[in-house]
Amino acid sequence: MDLFAQIVGPEHVHTDAETLRRCSSDLFVWPHARTCRAVVAPGTPEEVARAVRAAAAIGWGIVCRGSGTSWNGGCVPHEDETIVLDLRRLNRIRVLETADQYVTVEAGCTWSTLLEGLKASGLRPVFEPFGARATATLGGLLSMQAPDDCAGVLGIEAVTGAGKLICTGSAARAAHPAPFFRHFGPDVTALLLGDGGRFAVKTAVTLALEPLPAHTAQAAFVYATFEAMMRTVVACCRLRTPARLVGLDPAALRGTHGEAAAHALREALARGRRRRLIGALGEVLSRPENGEPAVQSDEWTLHVSAEAVSERAARDVIESLREHCLREGREIAPCLPAGRHVPARELIGPDGERWVPTAAVVPLSMAETAATRVRQLFGVHRARMQGFGMWESCTVVSRPGAVIIEPCIYWHDELSPVHLEQPDVVHAGKSGSAIHFPEGRELAIELRARLTELFTELGAVHLEPGKAHPFRTLLAPQAAEALERLRQAFDPDDRLNPGNLER
Ligand SMILES: Cc1cc2nc3c(=O)[nH]c(=O)nc-3n(C[C@H](O)[C@H](O)[C@H](O)COP(=O)(O)OP(=O)(O)OC[C@H]3O[C@@H](n4cnc5c(N)ncnc54)[C@H](O)[C@@H]3O)c2cc1C
Repeated sequence: MDLFAQIVGPEHVHTDAETLRRCSSDLFVWPHARTCRAVVAPGTPEEVARAVRAAAAIGWGIVCRGSGTSWNGGCVPHEDETIVLDLRRLNRIRVLETADQYVTVEAGCTWSTLLEGLKASGLRPVFEPFGARATATLGGLLSMQAPDDCAGVLGIEAVTGAGKLICTGSAARAAHPAPFFRHFGPDVTALLLGDGGRFAVKTAVTLALEPLPAHTAQAAFVYATFEAMMRTVVACCRLRTPARLVGLDPAALRGTHGEAAAHALREALARGRRRRLIGALGEVLSRPENGEPAVQSDEWTLHVSAEAVSERAARDVIESLREHCLREGREIAPCLPAGRHVPARELIGPDGERWVPTAAVVPLSMAETAATRVRQLFGVHRARMQGFGMWESCTVVSRPGAVIIEPCIYWHDELSPVHLEQPDVVHAGKSGSAIHFPEGRELAIELRARLTELFTELGAVHLEPGKAHPFRTLLAPQAAEALERLRQAFDPDDRLNPGNLER
C-alpha cells in the first residue's frame, strides 16, 4: 500500500475492514461480490493517472466509484486483487464560462454541488439526469446514463487504462483546447458515456449551459389502468413536442403519513426539494375534495409539463396534448413541480424497506405490451410477494421516440452500508426494516432477473450498464468485436472495472 500512499498521501489510502466492505457495495445485493484490497482516493487527475499506473504495475484491477448509489454492481468488485478508486475528492467546479455557456466540473462533484454552484449564474446544465439523486456524482451519472442521450455533454477529461490523461471534443486540440464543442472529428466523448467505467476513469466533464426557463406550464390527468396511461404517453410522445411526461402508478399513493406528508410536499414544492415527494404527493392526491378524493387508490396519474420563452408558448404545448390526455383520462389539478422534476424516491421505502429499480427504454410500438407484461409478471408472483410484505411501484417517463419504464421492487431486508452512509437515511433515523425474510431477498433477486429477461425479450434497451443486465451477449458478433477493439485501445490490459458490460 506504500506505493499508493506515496501518490495520494497515506490519509487517502484505506485498508480497514469497514471501509473496504462499504466501498465494495452498492444499493443491491451481490452474492458474488469480492471485497477490494484497498480504497485509494486521489485528489487530482495526475494522481488518478499515477494510481492507475501503480495498480497496473502490480497487476491489480481498478473499480471506479462515485457515491456508490447505484443498483447494478458497476462499482462492486467481482474479482480479488482489486483497488477501488474513490473519486469523491475530485469535487471542484473548475471553470464556469458564462460567455461560452459551459461549466467544467470534476467527476467526483455531486449533482447537487454543481446546481448549487450554478445558482447565481441563472444557468443550468442542458444535460438532464432525470430523477437523479442529489448525491450522485457526475462521473457515476455519465458512466450510467447514456440512454438519456447525454445531450449537452461537451467533453470529458479521463485517464485511460494505460494511465494517460486525455480530453475529448474541442478540448482534445493541442493548442486552444477550450471545451466548448463536442463534435470535433469522431465523437470520442460518446465512447465514454454509459461505458460503466470500462473505457477510462473520468476525471472531469464539461457540460453546456442554458438559461433557466422563463415560463412553465403543467397539467395532470388520471387513468383507470396502466395500459390507458401508457397509450396516452405513446400518443403524446409521437407528437414530439418539448413537453415532459411522467406517469406514476397507484403505489405512489402508498406510505403516506397524514399531515406530515402534505407538509413535506408543500416544503418540497417551495424549496424545489424532491425527497419524500412521492409519499407526500400521494397524501395530497388522496385527500378528499368535496367528499371525493382527487385520485382513487387504484388509479394512475400522468404529469405533463412544458417550459418555454413565454407563458403562452408553454400553455400552447400543454394544450396540444390535452385532447390526447383526455381521451381516456380525466384532468386534476397539477401537483408536481413544473419543469424537469421527476420525483426521486427516497432510498428506502415508507416502512424502511429496501428497493431496487429496473429501468428499460422501450420502443413506442411495444410500450403498451410492456405495460401489460409487467403487470402480469407481478400478478403471477403476487401471492408470494404478499407473503413477505413485498410490493412494487412503477414510473414511466417519456423520451423522444421511446418510453422509459422503471418498475421498482420493495422488500424487507437489512440495509447495505451504502444506504447507511446517506444523509437522508441517517437523518430520518432509519436503520432498515425491522423484519427480514431471507426468502424475500431471494424473491427480489429473482423478480429483478425476470424483469430483465422480459425487457430483453421485448427488445428494450437497458439503462445502467454494469453487471445486472445483459449487454455484450446481446450484440451481434461483429459489433461486439469492433467494440472490444475500441475498448482495448483505451484499456489494453483490461484493468478498468472488470466485469462491467460483460454479461
Ligand atoms: C430514472 C433513473 C433510473 C435509475 N435506474 C437505475 C437502475 O435501474 N439501476 C441502477 O443501477 N441505477 C439506476 N439509477 C441510478 C443512477 O444511475 C445513479 O443515480 C448514478 O449513477 C449514481 O451515481 P454515483 O456517483 O453514486 O455512481 P456509482 O454508483 O458510484 O457508480 C456508478 C457506475 O459508474 C462508474 N463510475 C463512477 N464514477 C466514475 C468515474 N469517475 N469514471 C469512470 N467510471 C465511474 C462506476 O464504476 C459504476 O459502474 C437510476 C437513476 C435514475 C435517475
